[in-house]
Amino acid sequence: MISSEFDTIAAISTPLGEGGIGIIRISGKEAISIANRIFQSSKGVNLLVVKTHTIHYGFIIDPETGQKIDEVLVTVMRAPNTYTREDVVEINCHGGYVTLKRILDLVISQGARLAEPGEFTKRAFLRGRIDLSQAESVIDLIRAKTEQAQKIALEHLSGRLSKKINELRDSLMRVCAHVEAYIDFPEEDIDGLTQEEIQTEINRIKEEINKLIEGYEEGKIYMEGLRAAIVGKPNVGKSSLLNALLMKDRAIVTEIPGTTRDIIEEYVNIKGMPLKIVDTAGIREAHDLVEAEGIKRTLRAVELAQLVLLVLDSSRPIDSLDEEIINRVIHKKIIVVINKKDIRSKEFCLPEVLKDKPRVEISALKGEGIEELKELIFNTTISGKYEQEGVVITKMRHKIALENALQALNNALQSFKEKEPLEITAMFLREALSFLGQIVGVVTTEDILNLIFSEFCIGK
Ligand code: GDP
Repeated sequence: MISSEFDTIAAISTPLGEGGIGIIRISGKEAISIANRIFQSSKGVNLLVVKTHTIHYGFIIDPETGQKIDEVLVTVMRAPNTYTREDVVEINCHGGYVTLKRILDLVISQGARLAEPGEFTKRAFLRGRIDLSQAESVIDLIRAKTEQAQKIALEHLSGRLSKKINELRDSLMRVCAHVEAYIDFPEEDIDGLTQEEIQTEINRIKEEINKLIEGYEEGKIYMEGLRAAIVGKPNVGKSSLLNALLMKDRAIVTEIPGTTRDIIEEYVNIKGMPLKIVDTAGIREAHDLVEAEGIKRTLRAVELAQLVLLVLDSSRPIDSLDEEIINRVIHKKIIVVINKKDIRSKEFCLPEVLKDKPRVEISALKGEGIEELKELIFNTTISGKYEQEGVVITKMRHKIALENALQALNNALQSFKEKEPLEITAMFLREALSFLGQIVGVVTTEDILNLIFSEFCIGK
Protein backbone atom coordinates (compact mmCIF):
# COMPACT_ATOMS: atom_id res chain seq x y z
CA MET A 1 0.00 0.00 0.00
CA ILE A 2 1.40 3.41 -0.91
CA SER A 3 1.10 5.70 2.07
CA SER A 4 -0.69 8.95 1.55
CA GLU A 5 -1.17 12.06 3.61
CA PHE A 6 -4.89 11.29 3.62
CA ASP A 7 -4.63 7.87 5.29
CA THR A 8 -5.81 7.47 8.83
CA ILE A 9 -2.67 6.96 10.87
CA ALA A 10 -2.02 5.46 14.29
CA ALA A 11 0.88 5.03 16.68
CA ILE A 12 1.82 4.46 20.28
CA SER A 13 2.57 8.00 21.48
CA THR A 14 4.01 7.21 24.90
CA PRO A 15 7.50 5.75 25.43
CA LEU A 16 7.75 2.00 25.27
CA GLY A 17 8.20 0.40 28.65
CA GLU A 18 6.17 -0.01 31.79
CA GLY A 19 4.10 3.02 32.71
CA GLY A 20 0.93 3.94 34.54
CA ILE A 21 -0.80 4.66 31.27
CA GLY A 22 0.02 4.35 27.61
CA ILE A 23 -1.57 6.32 24.79
CA ILE A 24 -2.44 5.26 21.27
CA ARG A 25 -3.16 8.15 18.98
CA ILE A 26 -5.23 7.88 15.82
CA SER A 27 -5.63 10.70 13.31
CA GLY A 28 -7.60 10.99 10.08
CA LYS A 29 -11.07 10.68 8.58
CA GLU A 30 -11.58 7.13 9.86
CA ALA A 31 -10.18 7.75 13.35
CA ILE A 32 -13.51 7.90 15.16
CA SER A 33 -15.19 5.05 13.28
CA ILE A 34 -12.17 2.76 13.78
CA ALA A 35 -12.15 3.51 17.50
CA ASN A 36 -15.89 2.99 17.67
CA ARG A 37 -15.61 -0.51 16.17
CA ILE A 38 -13.23 -1.70 18.88
CA PHE A 39 -14.64 0.25 21.83
CA GLN A 40 -17.40 -0.93 24.13
CA SER A 41 -18.67 1.79 26.40
CA SER A 42 -20.06 0.80 29.76
CA LYS A 43 -22.95 3.20 29.17
CA GLY A 44 -23.56 2.18 25.58
CA VAL A 45 -22.05 5.37 24.16
CA ASN A 46 -21.63 5.55 20.38
CA LEU A 47 -18.40 7.44 19.63
CA LEU A 48 -19.72 8.45 16.20
CA VAL A 49 -22.18 10.86 17.78
CA VAL A 50 -20.44 12.08 20.93
CA LYS A 51 -19.49 15.73 21.34
CA THR A 52 -15.98 16.79 20.42
CA HIS A 53 -13.29 16.88 23.12
CA THR A 54 -15.02 14.39 25.39
CA ILE A 55 -13.67 11.37 27.27
CA HIS A 56 -15.40 7.99 27.48
CA TYR A 57 -14.86 5.04 29.76
CA GLY A 58 -15.09 1.47 28.56
CA PHE A 59 -13.23 -1.51 27.12
CA ILE A 60 -11.29 -2.28 23.98
CA ILE A 61 -12.76 -5.44 22.48
CA ASP A 62 -11.48 -7.50 19.58
CA PRO A 63 -14.50 -7.35 17.22
CA GLU A 64 -13.58 -10.71 15.65
CA THR A 65 -13.43 -12.74 18.85
CA GLY A 66 -15.29 -10.54 21.31
CA GLN A 67 -12.28 -10.78 23.63
CA LYS A 68 -11.64 -7.93 26.08
CA ILE A 69 -8.19 -6.39 25.56
CA ASP A 70 -8.05 -3.61 28.16
CA GLU A 71 -9.99 -1.14 30.26
CA VAL A 72 -9.55 2.30 28.71
CA LEU A 73 -10.48 5.95 28.48
CA VAL A 74 -11.08 7.17 24.95
CA THR A 75 -10.81 10.84 24.03
CA VAL A 76 -12.62 12.00 20.90
CA MET A 77 -11.48 15.25 19.29
CA ARG A 78 -13.07 16.35 16.06
CA ALA A 79 -11.38 18.46 13.39
CA PRO A 80 -10.34 21.21 13.16
CA ASN A 81 -9.35 21.99 16.76
CA THR A 82 -6.91 19.13 17.15
CA TYR A 83 -3.16 18.54 16.99
CA THR A 84 -3.31 17.54 13.32
CA ARG A 85 -6.46 19.48 12.40
CA GLU A 86 -7.99 16.10 11.54
CA ASP A 87 -10.29 13.96 13.66
CA VAL A 88 -8.12 12.58 16.47
CA VAL A 89 -8.83 9.79 18.95
CA GLU A 90 -6.56 9.00 21.86
CA ILE A 91 -6.92 5.70 23.64
CA ASN A 92 -5.58 5.82 27.20
CA CYS A 93 -4.89 2.25 28.24
CA HIS A 94 -2.72 0.61 30.86
CA GLY A 95 0.98 1.15 30.17
CA GLY A 96 2.93 -1.88 29.11
CA TYR A 97 4.13 -3.02 25.74
CA VAL A 98 1.84 -6.00 25.19
CA THR A 99 -1.38 -4.10 25.88
CA LEU A 100 -0.33 -1.16 23.73
CA LYS A 101 0.81 -3.39 20.89
CA ARG A 102 -2.39 -5.45 20.90
CA ILE A 103 -4.56 -2.34 20.76
CA LEU A 104 -2.40 -0.80 18.04
CA ASP A 105 -2.65 -4.03 16.01
CA LEU A 106 -6.43 -3.92 16.35
CA VAL A 107 -6.55 -0.30 15.21
CA ILE A 108 -4.43 -1.20 12.20
CA SER A 109 -6.52 -4.26 11.38
CA GLN A 110 -9.52 -1.92 11.28
CA GLY A 111 -7.94 0.20 8.53
CA ALA A 112 -5.45 2.63 10.01
CA ARG A 113 -1.83 2.73 8.89
CA LEU A 114 1.17 2.87 11.22
CA ALA A 115 2.31 6.51 11.38
CA GLU A 116 5.77 7.43 10.19
CA PRO A 117 8.11 9.28 12.55
CA GLY A 118 6.81 12.80 13.14
CA GLU A 119 3.80 12.26 10.90
CA PHE A 120 1.27 13.75 13.32
CA THR A 121 3.31 16.94 13.51
CA LYS A 122 3.90 16.86 9.75
CA ARG A 123 0.12 16.85 9.27
CA ALA A 124 -0.22 19.79 11.63
CA PHE A 125 2.13 21.58 9.22
CA LEU A 126 0.53 20.32 6.01
CA ARG A 127 -2.94 21.28 7.24
CA GLY A 128 -1.69 24.75 8.10
CA ARG A 129 -2.02 24.71 11.89
CA ILE A 130 1.65 25.52 12.37
CA ASP A 131 4.43 26.56 10.03
CA LEU A 132 7.58 24.58 9.40
CA SER A 133 9.81 26.28 11.97
CA GLN A 134 7.10 25.72 14.58
CA ALA A 135 6.86 22.05 13.64
CA GLU A 136 10.61 21.69 13.94
CA SER A 137 10.55 23.16 17.44
CA VAL A 138 8.40 20.26 18.64
CA ILE A 139 11.47 18.05 18.55
CA ASP A 140 13.49 20.64 20.48
CA LEU A 141 10.72 20.73 23.06
CA ILE A 142 10.82 16.96 23.45
CA ARG A 143 14.59 16.85 23.70
CA ALA A 144 15.16 19.95 25.84
CA LYS A 145 17.67 19.24 28.59
CA THR A 146 17.23 22.36 30.67
CA GLU A 147 14.36 24.69 31.47
CA GLN A 148 15.96 27.42 29.39
CA ALA A 149 16.16 25.14 26.33
CA GLN A 150 12.54 24.16 26.90
CA LYS A 151 11.56 27.83 27.11
CA ILE A 152 13.26 28.68 23.81
CA ALA A 153 11.65 25.68 22.09
CA LEU A 154 8.22 26.65 23.39
CA GLU A 155 8.70 30.22 22.16
CA HIS A 156 9.53 28.87 18.71
CA LEU A 157 6.48 26.62 18.86
CA SER A 158 4.32 29.61 19.75
CA GLY A 159 5.65 31.34 16.67
CA ARG A 160 8.25 33.82 17.93
CA LEU A 161 10.80 32.88 15.28
CA SER A 162 8.11 32.65 12.59
CA LYS A 163 6.97 36.17 13.49
CA LYS A 164 10.50 37.51 13.12
CA ILE A 165 11.04 35.76 9.78
CA ASN A 166 7.65 36.88 8.49
CA GLU A 167 8.41 40.50 9.42
CA LEU A 168 11.63 40.25 7.42
CA ARG A 169 9.75 38.72 4.51
CA ASP A 170 7.15 41.50 4.60
CA SER A 171 9.86 44.18 4.56
CA LEU A 172 11.61 42.45 1.71
CA MET A 173 8.39 42.08 -0.21
CA ARG A 174 7.83 45.82 0.05
CA VAL A 175 11.33 46.47 -1.27
CA CYS A 176 10.68 44.04 -4.11
CA ALA A 177 7.44 45.79 -4.99
CA HIS A 178 9.25 49.15 -5.20
CA VAL A 179 12.03 47.80 -7.38
CA GLU A 180 9.54 46.11 -9.67
CA ALA A 181 7.55 49.33 -9.86
CA TYR A 182 10.69 51.12 -11.05
CA ILE A 183 11.03 48.50 -13.77
CA ASP A 184 7.50 49.12 -14.97
CA PHE A 185 7.48 52.91 -14.55
CA PRO A 186 11.12 54.00 -14.71
CA GLU A 187 10.36 57.69 -14.93
CA GLU A 188 8.22 57.98 -11.84
CA ASP A 189 9.27 58.17 -8.23
CA ILE A 190 6.86 55.67 -6.81
CA ASP A 191 5.62 56.17 -3.27
CA GLY A 192 8.49 58.52 -2.66
CA LEU A 193 10.97 55.70 -1.97
CA THR A 194 14.22 56.68 -3.63
CA GLN A 195 16.77 54.15 -4.78
CA GLU A 196 19.01 55.20 -1.86
CA GLU A 197 16.18 54.50 0.54
CA ILE A 198 15.70 51.10 -1.01
CA GLN A 199 19.37 50.33 -0.43
CA THR A 200 19.16 51.53 3.16
CA GLU A 201 16.20 49.22 3.73
CA ILE A 202 18.04 46.26 2.21
CA ASN A 203 20.95 47.00 4.53
CA ARG A 204 18.64 47.09 7.53
CA ILE A 205 17.17 43.71 6.59
CA LYS A 206 20.69 42.36 6.12
CA GLU A 207 21.60 43.51 9.61
CA GLU A 208 18.59 41.75 11.13
CA ILE A 209 19.46 38.55 9.28
CA ASN A 210 23.05 38.85 10.45
CA LYS A 211 21.95 39.11 14.07
CA LEU A 212 19.96 35.91 13.70
CA ILE A 213 22.92 34.11 12.14
CA GLU A 214 25.19 35.32 14.94
CA GLY A 215 22.79 33.90 17.53
CA TYR A 216 23.00 30.41 16.07
CA GLU A 217 26.02 29.25 18.06
CA GLU A 218 24.31 30.29 21.27
CA GLY A 219 20.97 28.78 20.29
CA LYS A 220 22.64 25.53 19.35
CA ILE A 221 24.43 25.40 22.69
CA TYR A 222 21.17 25.91 24.58
CA MET A 223 19.61 23.05 22.62
CA GLU A 224 22.41 20.56 22.25
CA GLY A 225 24.70 21.55 25.08
CA LEU A 226 28.35 22.53 25.07
CA ARG A 227 30.74 19.59 24.94
CA ALA A 228 33.35 19.91 27.65
CA ALA A 229 36.21 17.66 28.73
CA ILE A 230 37.66 17.54 32.22
CA VAL A 231 41.37 17.02 31.74
CA GLY A 232 44.35 16.65 34.05
CA LYS A 233 46.84 14.11 35.28
CA PRO A 234 45.76 11.42 37.76
CA ASN A 235 44.82 12.61 41.26
CA VAL A 236 44.36 16.30 40.47
CA GLY A 237 40.67 15.94 41.35
CA LYS A 238 38.84 15.40 38.02
CA SER A 239 36.45 12.88 39.48
CA SER A 240 35.82 15.06 42.51
CA LEU A 241 35.11 18.02 40.23
CA LEU A 242 32.70 16.01 38.12
CA ASN A 243 30.87 14.91 41.24
CA ALA A 244 30.77 18.45 42.60
CA LEU A 245 29.31 19.69 39.31
CA LEU A 246 26.77 16.91 39.10
CA MET A 247 25.75 17.04 42.73
CA LYS A 248 23.15 19.80 42.52
CA ASP A 249 22.65 20.36 38.86
CA ARG A 250 22.64 17.12 36.99
CA ALA A 251 20.54 17.88 33.95
CA ILE A 252 18.06 15.45 32.51
CA VAL A 253 19.83 13.01 30.26
CA THR A 254 18.13 11.77 27.18
CA GLU A 255 19.39 8.55 25.74
CA ILE A 256 18.13 8.20 22.21
CA PRO A 257 17.24 4.54 21.67
CA GLY A 258 19.26 2.83 19.01
CA THR A 259 22.35 4.97 19.28
CA THR A 260 25.39 3.28 20.66
CA ARG A 261 27.92 5.40 22.39
CA ASP A 262 31.33 4.27 23.49
CA ILE A 263 31.67 7.48 25.42
CA ILE A 264 29.45 8.12 28.38
CA GLU A 265 28.09 11.63 28.72
CA GLU A 266 26.65 13.54 31.63
CA TYR A 267 24.85 16.85 31.44
CA VAL A 268 25.33 19.60 33.99
CA ASN A 269 22.92 22.52 34.05
CA ILE A 270 24.94 25.74 33.94
CA LYS A 271 22.42 28.56 34.38
CA GLY A 272 20.15 26.97 31.80
CA MET A 273 22.93 25.94 29.46
CA PRO A 274 23.51 22.19 29.28
CA LEU A 275 27.19 21.35 29.71
CA LYS A 276 27.83 17.94 28.21
CA ILE A 277 30.84 16.37 29.83
CA VAL A 278 32.46 13.88 27.48
CA ASP A 279 34.07 10.67 28.59
CA THR A 280 32.90 10.70 32.16
CA ALA A 281 33.68 6.98 32.26
CA GLY A 282 37.30 7.77 31.45
CA ILE A 283 37.42 10.33 34.22
CA ARG A 284 36.09 7.92 36.80
CA GLU A 285 38.21 4.98 35.72
CA ALA A 286 41.38 7.02 35.37
CA HIS A 287 43.07 5.34 38.29
CA ASP A 288 42.66 1.88 36.85
CA LEU A 289 43.68 2.71 33.34
CA VAL A 290 47.18 2.03 32.15
CA GLU A 291 48.88 5.30 31.37
CA ALA A 292 48.90 4.90 27.58
CA GLU A 293 45.19 4.12 27.54
CA GLY A 294 44.52 7.04 29.87
CA ILE A 295 46.34 9.43 27.56
CA LYS A 296 44.56 8.04 24.52
CA ARG A 297 41.17 8.59 26.10
CA THR A 298 42.10 12.05 27.29
CA LEU A 299 43.17 13.06 23.81
CA ARG A 300 39.97 11.68 22.34
CA ALA A 301 37.88 13.60 24.86
CA VAL A 302 39.88 16.78 24.17
CA GLU A 303 39.41 16.38 20.47
CA LEU A 304 35.64 16.13 20.87
CA ALA A 305 35.38 18.99 23.33
CA GLN A 306 34.42 22.59 22.60
CA LEU A 307 35.70 23.58 26.03
CA VAL A 308 38.45 22.04 28.14
CA LEU A 309 38.37 22.27 31.92
CA LEU A 310 42.06 21.86 32.67
CA VAL A 311 42.45 20.74 36.26
CA LEU A 312 45.68 21.46 38.16
CA ASP A 313 46.51 20.35 41.68
CA SER A 314 47.66 23.39 43.66
CA SER A 315 48.86 21.33 46.60
CA ARG A 316 52.07 20.54 44.71
CA PRO A 317 54.29 22.12 42.08
CA ILE A 318 53.56 21.66 38.38
CA ASP A 319 55.50 18.70 36.98
CA SER A 320 56.40 17.42 33.52
CA LEU A 321 53.20 15.39 33.15
CA ASP A 322 51.13 18.54 33.81
CA GLU A 323 53.22 20.32 31.23
CA GLU A 324 52.72 17.61 28.67
CA ILE A 325 48.96 17.75 29.17
CA ILE A 326 48.99 21.56 28.95
CA ASN A 327 50.81 21.31 25.63
CA ARG A 328 48.19 18.92 24.31
CA VAL A 329 45.25 21.18 25.15
CA ILE A 330 46.67 24.67 24.75
CA HIS A 331 45.15 25.09 21.26
CA LYS A 332 41.64 24.58 22.62
CA LYS A 333 39.32 26.91 24.45
CA ILE A 334 40.40 26.40 28.06
CA ILE A 335 39.28 27.25 31.56
CA VAL A 336 42.03 26.61 34.10
CA VAL A 337 40.64 25.01 37.23
CA ILE A 338 43.11 25.33 40.09
CA ASN A 339 41.96 22.66 42.49
CA LYS A 340 42.67 21.87 46.14
CA LYS A 341 42.79 25.49 47.17
CA ASP A 342 42.16 24.31 50.74
CA ILE A 343 45.67 22.81 50.82
CA ARG A 344 47.38 25.09 48.33
CA SER A 345 51.17 24.89 48.42
CA LYS A 346 53.50 27.88 48.15
CA GLU A 347 55.40 25.93 45.55
CA PHE A 348 52.49 25.87 43.15
CA CYS A 349 53.01 28.40 40.41
CA LEU A 350 50.74 28.86 37.41
CA PRO A 351 52.67 28.14 34.17
CA GLU A 352 53.32 31.22 32.02
CA VAL A 353 51.33 29.86 29.02
CA LEU A 354 48.17 29.72 31.10
CA LYS A 355 48.37 33.23 32.54
CA ASP A 356 46.07 34.79 29.94
CA LYS A 357 43.45 32.01 30.18
CA PRO A 358 40.33 32.37 32.28
CA ARG A 359 40.87 30.63 35.61
CA VAL A 360 39.24 29.88 38.90
CA GLU A 361 40.42 28.45 42.21
CA ILE A 362 38.28 25.74 43.70
CA SER A 363 38.17 22.98 46.23
CA ALA A 364 36.29 20.15 44.59
CA LEU A 365 36.38 18.25 47.85
CA LYS A 366 34.74 21.03 49.85
CA GLY A 367 32.55 22.26 47.03
CA GLU A 368 34.13 25.72 47.14
CA GLY A 369 34.45 27.84 44.01
CA ILE A 370 32.05 25.63 42.05
CA GLU A 371 29.53 28.46 41.57
CA GLU A 372 32.34 30.77 40.36
CA LEU A 373 33.45 28.06 37.94
CA LYS A 374 29.91 27.75 36.58
CA GLU A 375 29.66 31.50 36.23
CA LEU A 376 32.93 31.49 34.29
CA ILE A 377 31.81 28.65 32.01
CA PHE A 378 28.58 30.51 31.29
CA ASN A 379 30.20 33.87 30.68
CA THR A 380 32.89 32.53 28.37
CA THR A 381 30.27 30.69 26.30
CA ILE A 382 27.07 32.70 26.25
CA SER A 383 27.38 36.18 24.82
CA GLY A 384 23.80 37.15 25.63
CA LYS A 385 22.37 37.11 22.09
CA TYR A 386 19.20 35.44 23.28
CA GLU A 387 18.77 37.96 26.12
CA GLN A 388 19.33 40.90 23.74
CA GLU A 389 17.27 39.78 20.77
CA GLY A 390 14.62 37.67 22.50
CA VAL A 391 14.96 35.11 19.74
CA VAL A 392 17.73 32.77 18.63
CA ILE A 393 17.84 30.20 15.89
CA THR A 394 18.79 26.66 16.89
CA LYS A 395 18.79 24.77 13.61
CA MET A 396 21.51 24.44 11.00
CA ARG A 397 18.82 24.40 8.30
CA HIS A 398 17.68 27.86 9.38
CA LYS A 399 21.23 29.17 9.51
CA ILE A 400 21.94 27.99 5.97
CA ALA A 401 18.73 29.54 4.64
CA LEU A 402 19.60 32.86 6.35
CA GLU A 403 23.14 32.79 4.94
CA ASN A 404 21.76 32.16 1.46
CA ALA A 405 19.29 35.01 1.88
CA LEU A 406 22.13 37.28 2.98
CA GLN A 407 24.20 36.34 -0.06
CA ALA A 408 21.26 37.06 -2.34
CA LEU A 409 20.81 40.49 -0.70
CA ASN A 410 24.51 41.24 -1.19
CA ASN A 411 24.13 40.34 -4.84
CA ALA A 412 21.11 42.61 -5.08
CA LEU A 413 23.04 45.54 -3.58
CA GLN A 414 25.98 44.85 -5.86
CA SER A 415 23.79 44.88 -8.94
CA PHE A 416 22.31 48.18 -7.73
CA LYS A 417 25.76 49.72 -7.36
CA GLU A 418 26.90 48.49 -10.73
CA LYS A 419 23.77 49.94 -12.27
CA GLU A 420 22.76 46.64 -13.79
CA PRO A 421 19.23 46.43 -15.12
CA LEU A 422 16.76 46.52 -12.21
CA GLU A 423 15.39 43.16 -13.35
CA ILE A 424 18.59 41.60 -12.02
CA THR A 425 18.24 43.32 -8.66
CA ALA A 426 14.64 42.17 -8.47
CA MET A 427 15.66 38.63 -9.25
CA PHE A 428 18.14 38.57 -6.35
CA LEU A 429 15.56 40.07 -4.01
CA ARG A 430 13.06 37.37 -5.00
CA GLU A 431 15.77 34.79 -4.35
CA ALA A 432 16.36 36.16 -0.85
CA LEU A 433 12.60 36.04 -0.23
CA SER A 434 12.49 32.44 -1.28
CA PHE A 435 15.33 31.50 1.11
CA LEU A 436 13.51 33.17 4.01
CA GLY A 437 10.38 31.31 2.93
CA GLN A 438 12.19 28.00 3.36
CA ILE A 439 12.48 28.60 7.09
CA VAL A 440 8.78 28.91 7.72
CA GLY A 441 7.93 26.41 5.00
CA VAL A 442 6.24 28.67 2.45
CA VAL A 443 8.81 27.32 0.05
CA THR A 444 9.55 23.66 0.58
CA THR A 445 10.05 20.29 -1.06
CA GLU A 446 9.07 16.77 -0.10
CA ASP A 447 12.77 15.97 0.46
CA ILE A 448 13.19 18.75 2.99
CA LEU A 449 10.03 17.64 4.80
CA ASN A 450 11.15 14.02 4.92
CA LEU A 451 14.51 15.03 6.28
CA ILE A 452 12.98 17.18 9.00
CA PHE A 453 10.31 14.79 10.18
CA SER A 454 12.44 11.64 10.03
CA GLU A 455 14.27 13.04 13.08
CA PHE A 456 11.08 12.76 15.13
CA CYS A 457 9.94 9.80 17.13
CA ILE A 458 7.00 7.71 16.01
CA GLY A 459 3.79 8.86 17.64
CA LYS A 460 4.63 12.59 17.59
P1 GDP B 1 41.31 12.30 39.62
O1 GDP B 1 42.26 11.16 39.55
O2 GDP B 1 41.86 13.47 38.90
O3 GDP B 1 39.92 11.96 39.20
O4 GDP B 1 41.25 12.77 41.15
P2 GDP B 1 40.18 12.44 42.28
O5 GDP B 1 38.99 13.26 42.12
O6 GDP B 1 39.99 10.97 42.39
O7 GDP B 1 40.94 12.99 43.57
C1 GDP B 1 42.19 12.49 43.95
C2 GDP B 1 42.35 12.71 45.44
O8 GDP B 1 42.39 14.11 45.73
C3 GDP B 1 41.20 12.16 46.26
O9 GDP B 1 41.73 11.61 47.44
C4 GDP B 1 40.35 13.37 46.57
O10 GDP B 1 39.65 13.24 47.78
C5 GDP B 1 41.40 14.45 46.67
N1 GDP B 1 40.87 15.77 46.35
C6 GDP B 1 40.15 16.11 45.25
N2 GDP B 1 39.85 17.42 45.31
C7 GDP B 1 40.34 17.90 46.45
C8 GDP B 1 40.33 19.20 47.07
O11 GDP B 1 39.78 20.18 46.57
N3 GDP B 1 40.99 19.32 48.25
C9 GDP B 1 41.59 18.27 48.85
N4 GDP B 1 42.18 18.48 50.01
N5 GDP B 1 41.60 17.05 48.31
C10 GDP B 1 41.01 16.86 47.11
